[in-house]
Amino acid sequence: MADRDGAQPRVTALARKLGARIAASGPLPVDAYMAACLADEAFGYYRSATAIGAAGDFTTAPEIAQVFGELIGLWLADQWQAQGAPQRFNLVELGPGRGVLMQDALRAAGQALPAFAAAARLHLVDISVPMREEQRRRLAAHAPTWHAELADVPNDAPMFAVANEFFDALPVRQHVRRGSAWHERRVGLHEGRLGFVEGEAVPGDFARAEAPEGAVVETCPAGEAIAQELGARIAELGGAALAIDYGTAVSGWGDTLQALRQHKPVDVFEAPGECDLTAHVDFPALMAAARKGGAASYGIVGQGAFLTRLGLPVRLGRLLRSAAPRQARELAKASQRLLDPREMGTLFKVVCIVPAGSAPPPGFVSELEI
Ligand code: SAH
Repeated sequence: MADRDGAQPRVTALARKLGARIAASGPLPVDAYMAACLADEAFGYYRSATAIGAAGDFTTAPEIAQVFGELIGLWLADQWQAQGAPQRFNLVELGPGRGVLMQDALRAAGQALPAFAAAARLHLVDISVPMREEQRRRLAAHAPTWHAELADVPNDAPMFAVANEFFDALPVRQHVRRGSAWHERRVGLHEGRLGFVEGEAVPGDFARAEAPEGAVVETCPAGEAIAQELGARIAELGGAALAIDYGTAVSGWGDTLQALRQHKPVDVFEAPGECDLTAHVDFPALMAAARKGGAASYGIVGQGAFLTRLGLPVRLGRLLRSAAPRQARELAKASQRLLDPREMGTLFKVVCIVPAGSAPPPGFVSELEI
């Protein structure tokens, strides 16, 4: 049977598994659905797909231009130096994908400050087996240790961390406004097919007085827990964390859950477990969680402004002078994609977490820029 758009819905193995689970114990909260689609032990998207790149489902900044990872490496090394260049520290990446960002970061930071690369113990947090393989290929020389979650990374030294397009993959809950109450949005069955259903009223004051009747408000308990943990570790032993993602600078409302397949948006129920699912990151909520952990946070700054302040145009100018014409055109185009407000420049945003009382790190001006 074709759906409204004429597309053929695929009953994937995960769709059958979720259908049976819903039939047995009722509709699932949206975060449970998203978690299953991405991380189900047997059928989750990140368990099998090599999602990133031209042949995959989406592309990310480090895959577009190496200068992205290089500038992040220099930022981390600068913060390490600003905190007294500790002789031992944990260098952590959350969701490293194919390992390209960290490879570029360590090369650039290692050239500028060899002692930084020498003192780093590399910890990679990722649930994806194929991605871990790619990471091993690129980062073996740095002897990484892998973990399924941040909580497993040793908390025995200062931590310098980066997360690019990681928080958008963490499951969100959705709540629908009905009068003065908020109802949990759930995934149930309509004539045997997965779809949204409205669940019970749940406690929750989202301070979104302006949200109209029927509006959807999202929260990301998993993301907030990780931001709080980063804040607590940085407050306790020092370090810094940088998070780059697409999302909102003001906590608002709206259903931002989206599925991507081969670089095209598709319905979130189209082929569960075979598409990437993401939601916009609520940056103010992440920063509040980091501060709850005891650290300070800076941002929110647009990716374009951040990379410009770190000197991307200067670095690019230097590269262009020694590049062949075709390579120069490609370099200029790639940088443009990262910086331009019509591309990734403002949709993508950057925040950092540093010890309370720290001055704004490079790229940041104040505690609330947007
Ligand atoms: N940072 C990379 C990859 C972004 S894609 C880049 O910029 O190219 C998201 C990454 O997070 C993937 O490597 C995926 O395997 C990982 N990931 C997704 N959900 C995760 C989770 N719950 N815990 C740990 N890693 C996760």
